[in-house]
Amino acid sequence: MYDVIIIGGGILGLSTAMQLADALPDRRLLLLEKEAGPARHQSGHNSGVIHAGVYYTPGSLKARFCHQGNRATRDFCDAHGIDYEICGKMLVATNDADIQRMKLFWDRAGANGLQREWLEADALREREPNIVGQGAIFIPSSGIVDYAKVTEAMAVEFQKRGGMIRYDHRVTGLEEHPGEVVVKTSQGDVSGRYLVTCSGLMADRVVRMLGRDPGFTICPFRGEYYRLADRQERLVNHLIYPIPDPAMPFLGVHLTRMIDGTVTVGPNAVLALAREGYRKSDLSLRDMLGMFTHPGILRVLGRTLKPGIREMKNSLFKRGYLEEVRKYCPSLSLEDLQPWPAGVRAQAVSRDGRLIDDFLFVNTRRTVNVCNAPSPAATSAIPIGGHIVEKVKEQVDFG
Ligand SMILES: Cc1cc2nc3c(=O)[nH]c(=O)nc-3n(C[C@H](O)[C@H](O)[C@H](O)COP(=O)(O)OP(=O)(O)OC[C@H]3O[C@@H](n4cnc5c(N)ncnc54)[C@H](O)[C@@H]3O)c2cc1C
Repeated sequence: MYDVIIIGGGILGLSTAMQLADALPDRRLLLLEKEAGPARHQSGHNSGVIHAGVYYTPGSLKARFCHQGNRATRDFCDAHGIDYEICGKMLVATNDADIQRMKLFWDRAGANGLQREWLEADALREREPNIVGQGAIFIPSSGIVDYAKVTEAMAVEFQKRGGMIRYDHRVTGLEEHPGEVVVKTSQGDVSGRYLVTCSGLMADRVVRMLGRDPGFTICPFRGEYYRLADRQERLVNHLIYPIPDPAMPFLGVHLTRMIDGTVTVGPNAVLALAREGYRKSDLSLRDMLGMFTHPGILRVLGRTLKPGIREMKNSLFKRGYLEEVRKYCPSLSLEDLQPWPAGVRAQAVSRDGRLIDDFLFVNTRRTVNVCNAPSPAATSAIPIGGHIVEKVKEQVDFG
């Protein structure tokens, strides 16, 4: 019998596993992942931004863990020789409504303890000659990294401390008993005294395997990107974001310098017709049936119909996508947008139609389940893992 079994080889599962191995030396720890390696889903298909924590409600788990995670991610990279860069980010206002919202984010960044600078239009132009706007907030502590590399390094650390990883093991069923949790997998059953699940796009299904009604469902939103043509790679000096609409859960199409020198444009947010559907043509009948019969998702779709249709149109027609970016970077043309792989976000939606904003955990006697961990969960992975370790230590007496 294992002491703790962890499901999910993304950044949250591996951060938790690595820190459990530190906190519980000499205990038998096992991580199960259905894919052939780590970071094959969200953790390997994202923008690679080390967020500073501008957007999040002060006092929320997102605000707290992102702030701590910004520092912890850099320290982890320093200790493991992983490249990262603290390049800073600009939130650019392009119209009067944006200027009003900019004030809100200015206050929020202050309440979240961030260093920030208010730039008027000419100061913005001086620092970013190719970007136009009425003004901007500059956040110096935002950075970039490759989260797949961070996740891989965590896997190595976990194994160095004696943890076991089994890839190609899909969890198909769970039974929680008074003294153990039985985990059924595609390659046989294993049992553990305690279970942690970090299953991303499958989070609600895994909670349901425990016989629990999760009270939410995962709504998959595909984030489609382009990359800038090579000749445009020096176009921007910082990360360039629009001012987001606070009613929408995503940040708007941005220009992101990646750690390998590429600049990506995106991501947008379109409903994915398959939870792990990275191409527009991917669809899953099971996933679609689950979505289109869920009252909460139907309410979200009804409420966000107009922006949703705009996103879909821009997804189908590159020119519309381009116009979103040209609002702040007018020199870009269609030829500048080259193909780049998409990612799919796991966003939890409650039955009453709320997009659950904060990180969410659902615990039972012998399990901790990460249920909502969208962005900035990659930035926050180390403090989230630390939080889970504390929960495990509180709930189980390892003697
Ligand atoms: C387009 C996009 C852009 C983003 N940009 C950023 C960013 O710039 N900065 C940031 O901080 N965050 C960003 N995020 C968010 C971040 O990537 C995620 O919050 C984070 O990677 C979540 O990690 P995870 O381990 O929970 O999920 P995942 O990486 O999805 O891992 C879950 C794992 O569980 C496994 N699994 C699921 N079910 C089973 C099963 N039954 N049996 C076995 N294994 C199973 C899956 O195969 C998967 O490997 C972005 C996300 C997306 C999609």
